[in-house]
Amino acid sequence: MSTVEELKLRVRELENELIRCRQKCSGAEQPVREKIHTMSSEVVDSNPYSRLMALKRMGIVQDYEKIRSYTVAVVGVGGVGSVTAEMLTRCGIGKLLLFDYDRVELANMNRLFFQPHQAGMSKVEAAEHTLRNINPDVTFETHDYNITTLDNFNHFMERISHGGLEEGSPVDLILSCVDNFEARIAINTACNELGQVWMESGVSENAVSGHIQLIIPGETACFSCAPPLVVAANIDEKTLKREGVCAASLPTTMGVVAGILVQNVLKYLLKFGVVSHYLGYNAMQDFFPKMSMRPNPHCDHSHCRRQQDEYQRREAEQPREEVVEVEEEVVHEENDWGIEVVSEVTEEELKESSGPVPDLPEGITVAYTLPAQKDSAEGAMVQETDESLEELMARMKQI
Ligand SMILES: [Zn+2]
Repeated sequence: MSTVEELKLRVRELENELIRCRQKCSGAEQPVREKIHTMSSEVVDSNPYSRLMALKRMGIVQDYEKIRSYTVAVVGVGGVGSVTAEMLTRCGIGKLLLFDYDRVELANMNRLFFQPHQAGMSKVEAAEHTLRNINPDVTFETHDYNITTLDNFNHFMERISHGGLEEGSPVDLILSCVDNFEARIAINTACNELGQVWMESGVSENAVSGHIQLIIPGETACFSCAPPLVVAANIDEKTLKREGVCAASLPTTMGVVAGILVQNVLKYLLKFGVVSHYLGYNAMQDFFPKMSMRPNPHCDHSHCRRQQDEYQRREAEQPREEVVEVEEEVVHEENDWGIEVVSEVTEEELKESSGPVPDLPEGITVAYTLPAQKDSAEGAMVQETDESLEELMARMKQI
């Protein structure tokens, strides 16, 4: 006797098969290109990698081909995650692991990537289908489940620690593109436990701000040390969802966040430029705050505190501090464009740039608010006086 869950799974499989059949009949199934075994920098129109390999010739990246040796896990294949996965696929990443339990809906069509004919398909399956057509050189592994349930979480842990390109090796980087607190906490827990580097991303519920954050367990603040977007107390998220009320989303904001996320992934993996520890985006003001966040020694997460101890021990074992200073100088000298490695945005400045918090469900706040408009006339105001203009001028001359 099959359980309800098994039957639901079977129904889903059959639905997906039906969609695939329909795609075939409508001619949506295009022939895929042949696999390319070696990335070439040959400048011919038929080479999908010529523009990427040109980064070497331009002196930006030393060894672009190395991208094929990396594995990235994308958790959440929604507005940000799907675009992120597409960018990585087009860049020729070695392997992608996709995690999501959602289905494609017509309500997703205001965003990039998914298409109306994919409605009803699981997001990971629809994504794999599209991405494989774009670049068959990439290896895909998809998981159509919610990582926050106990069994799935254990499987998720197993796959991120053994699902690398070379089976048995860990993935190189995990990208959190989820839209809820619970899933972020699950990723944070897994990464703190494994010492796995990850990047968190998010877009606010009002669709006009977002952020990315690099989390190196023990070295930079983890999600529990300082959650950047959803500053929620330990309350049940289901209570936050109100019937008929949904979060706003824009393809623009999601595209920008996916863009700055993948840009930093490329910089991190291919070792060029400076990887941002935290980069925010406020669309209302085109404000991009940047900062570096140290871990909180009193973080709630015990594995985070353990990773901090380990990091400090490793740092103490480093030969000498002077070496670090020399390295810092070199970075500064090469900084032709005057871009700061770590922005000096102080807490006061951040506070000043924020305004009133919009009306959101209890337990949620936005990462950025609209800075209070400074009235330009305000600064020019003078104290009222009974003196005439002539008298004022005369007084000024005396001064
Ligand atoms: Zn922490």
